[in-house]
Amino acid sequence: FNEIPQGYPEPGKTVVYDTSETIDPDTVPLNGGFLVKTLEVSVDPYMRGRMRDEKIESYAPAFKKGKPIDGYAIGKVIRSENPQVKVGDHVYGYLEFQNYSVRKDLTGLRIIENKEKLPWSLYVGVLGKTAYMAWKEYAQAKKGETVFVSAAAGPVGSFVIQLAKMDGLKTIGTAGSDEKVEFLKEIGTDVIFNYKTTKPRDVLLKEGGIDIQGKYPDVSIRSYWDNVGGETLDNALEASKVNARFIECGMISGYNTGFNTPLPNIIQIVARSIKLYGFIVFRIEHMYNDEFYKVVPPLVASGKIKYKEDVTNGLDKVGDVILAVQKGLNKGKAVVHVADD
Ligand code: NDP
Repeated sequence: FNEIPQGYPEPGKTVVYDTSETIDPDTVPLNGGFLVKTLEVSVDPYMRGRMRDEKIESYAPAFKKGKPIDGYAIGKVIRSENPQVKVGDHVYGYLEFQNYSVRKDLTGLRIIENKEKLPWSLYVGVLGKTAYMAWKEYAQAKKGETVFVSAAAGPVGSFVIQLAKMDGLKTIGTAGSDEKVEFLKEIGTDVIFNYKTTKPRDVLLKEGGIDIQGKYPDVSIRSYWDNVGGETLDNALEASKVNARFIECGMISGYNTGFNTPLPNIIQIVARSIKLYGFIVFRIEHMYNDEFYKVVPPLVASGKIKYKEDVTNGLDKVGDVILAVQKGLNKGKAVVHVADD
């Protein structure tokens, strides 16, 4: 990590590919630990929030200047002096974005069995836990209700849409390109629109079948899975029902603008007794890890959960991928392939 960006992160400036310090996998001392070869790393929107002054507290630690960035990753154990970890084990968790890492123990890592023999990249993609776990925890999904999902074609949003369909909900999803709109069709989204060409407000109010002139439109948005915040959140507040459930997953529209957006309808959170669940996946995952790894890999293996990946080769491309994800240029879950299994 080289420099805190103003606005969007700049490839080659914000993070740089640095080969000055390398780990020799054959000779690096393990001191009772084990050596992990990085296979796949995940690039995610929240990484922008980690590019900040270290003094500012937040749920995910700031990247340290001059040190490797880190994030969710899959690695393979290639040497081990730790009896709990075998050579050939695959581990999932936070790894530094480098080819090899020495770890003392499994703190922050989980051994993944991968009985379904899925591609390892999926474990940082569609098998990311956010959508499944938070849907189970917060959706209180009821058949026949309508859920609105923003950034619906992304890895989190598209999984939410599919879970909502399985639970019998009507789904409304937004996406920022025609290609993403097509993917939303493929996964069975009921109402789809491109928020760059159509105002969320118009669709949400129309889908509720209400009189847009009405003073208190009784629209049918019972729940909103918010990935973007900003004006879309404001529109969703306006279109929500009393006792609506808002799952506040992310607010990417503010990530690169310092959240300089007014929210004139924010008062409706109070007035309509809307329940807003902020959550951080780290804080709920312990309740769902076992169920998740039992239920979800077979769903993916059988094709019941569809996914899109956008795989780039090489750690030297991480900076470009980080920017692409912030700008929405990724065509699926952004993964950087580092090495073959
Ligand atoms: P995506 O790969 O879907 O990337 C984010 C997408 O957001 C972009 O592709 C883009 O899609 C859209 N976007 C970008 N800028 C804007 C904008 N200004 N207004 C509206 N949409 C925009 O990401 P993920 O599926 O990985 O993550 C989705 C959300 O979930 C993010 O907000 C992320 O921070 C959050 N998250 C939260 C977690 C938690 O624990 N709370 C854990 C993981 C993710 P498009 O082309 O459609 O505009």
